[in-house]
Amino acid sequence: MPLPPWPPSLSQAQLEELTLQATTYALANSLLFLPPHSESSKHPSPAPASADHAPFALFPTPFPRHLFEHAMKLQRIYNVLYTRIASDEDFLDSIFSADVGMGKVDNFVGTLWRIWKDVRTEGLIQPLQLGIFRSDYLLHDEGGGEMTIKQVEFNTIASAAGALSQATDGLHRYLLACTEYFHGSDILKASNLATNDTLVQVVKGLVVAHQAYLQFGAVGSSPVLGASSNGTKRVPRILFVVQPNERNIFDQKPLEYALLMHHGIHVVRRRLDQLASARISERDGRRLYVKDQDSCDRDGVDEDQDDGWEISVIYFRAGYTPTDYPTPAHFETRKLLERSRAIKCPPIALQLAGSKKIQAVLSDPGVVESFLLRAPKLCRNAREKQSGSVGDHVFTVRDVEELRASWMEMYSLDTPNAITRTLSQHMDMVLKPQREGGGNNVYKAHIPSFLEGLDEKEREAWIAMRLIRAPVGVRNWLVRSGRENTLANVVSELGTFGWALFTHTQTSLPSSIKLQEESGGYLLRTKGVESDEGGLATGFSVLDSALLVD
Ligand code: ADP
Ligand code: MG
Repeated sequence: MPLPPWPPSLSQAQLEELTLQATTYALANSLLFLPPHSESSKHPSPAPASADHAPFALFPTPFPRHLFEHAMKLQRIYNVLYTRIASDEDFLDSIFSADVGMGKVDNFVGTLWRIWKDVRTEGLIQPLQLGIFRSDYLLHDEGGGEMTIKQVEFNTIASAAGALSQATDGLHRYLLACTEYFHGSDILKASNLATNDTLVQVVKGLVVAHQAYLQFGAVGSSPVLGASSNGTKRVPRILFVVQPNERNIFDQKPLEYALLMHHGIHVVRRRLDQLASARISERDGRRLYVKDQDSCDRDGVDEDQDDGWEISVIYFRAGYTPTDYPTPAHFETRKLLERSRAIKCPPIALQLAGSKKIQAVLSDPGVVESFLLRAPKLCRNAREKQSGSVGDHVFTVRDVEELRASWMEMYSLDTPNAITRTLSQHMDMVLKPQREGGGNNVYKAHIPSFLEGLDEKEREAWIAMRLIRAPVGVRNWLVRSGRENTLANVVSELGTFGWALFTHTQTSLPSSIKLQEESGGYLLRTKGVESDEGGLATGFSVLDSALLVD
């Protein structure tokens, strides 16, 4: 079934009315970005005085209902799959090791791997780990009108836009309630708008991890309730690790508001450089303490005066790109966090598991099968052979076939014939390094000259992926702050969310806590067809909602 002609045609006056209602709603309901940071402004940044509405699509974009539901269903399998990958040390070592794997040629990956290796050698103190995931898909039209979904990538760190996507759902529902979109289309009705509870789901993952820390974080030591040296009992807090000059705070602050106002959990927000003063209590089971903000920013504070806040969960919204680590001290801080007793979201192993290389390796014959179809072999890590604790569920061959059917052809550039194969089809390919955050890929016509300049040994750090062919003919109005609306031919990228609290060690944890996972919530980003890239923060995409069509 082709997608319906879109958007409905409305008069200029009706479009203006919709835009007015939409931008006002966006400003009133936290669908916002901070204005770009100016280098000349004071550091640390002053309290924000204004914000711009985030870019959004005026109409929700049609998306086939059965494919949306299919993506939601796959999320459950992905939640479990990635917890198992992150728990398989041998598998990850064989790919990322700085001695024999990709860490040799990719310094960033190598440094993260080394930190993980050191911390493992010392002994991981916290058996629980948290993943908040987003699996991204594009619609793929093979020709002949039959559409499928194909996975773009799987995110295991800083999976963003949960709060903004839920706010966008609110925007489109409001526009519908307020204007009925001027009866422009029969399918534009609330029952066709996909349910979006992403903020709720992401918060739930953090709450479950926080509560598990309070209950079980102190395995083998006294119960967790931070007792500072001045004797005051303090309830642990969740740490958000954030980037300097973050513009996307309106995607992060709603998580903090919900954690505090609905669950009574305080959040401590810190940049990596501020966390250099964080302290691990070696005598006390490596609990992590973070100083109060004022003592963080002040020099000459007496170290022993106050322990600061004990941290239950570290939620990384930074740390996924080399620019987050401008000095070796930033990596030292990451190591300090990784060593601590706090539950990491994600730990380094899970961050590495989310790299594009893993996507390519999974698609090799037998690999994904080995993670999903044979429970007793789940943990190939020699020390954990008997474990199987990362969810004992054995998936079916059909589950695996469905996953494989959602993948495009992918391979590592260091495999035999990879270069000739890529060059002969380069207009149909994208090359990706092990990076997150947008702007790192090499597309189509740029591929031959890029490959010419790529050192042979660096090939190991890159993968090639066949381009997904999104259906043509869908258009939408894109609304960007301070700019004329544009009517563009568009492509929409669906991200489905899930979270998992898991452990791969045989500990005295109750079986109920060994794997808890849930799926729910989605993000739809829509971009002009002419753009290869798709990020929100990078300005290519706008926020959107899925209008489910049969
Ligand atoms: P990043 O980690 O930078 O987000 P992605 O793999 O998500 O990297 O690629 C960035 C963007 O490039 C995606 O949002 C998507 O729009 C586009 N893209 C990536 N892979 C493909 C592909 N195989 N086919 C078509 N577009 C793709
Ligand atoms: Mg992406």
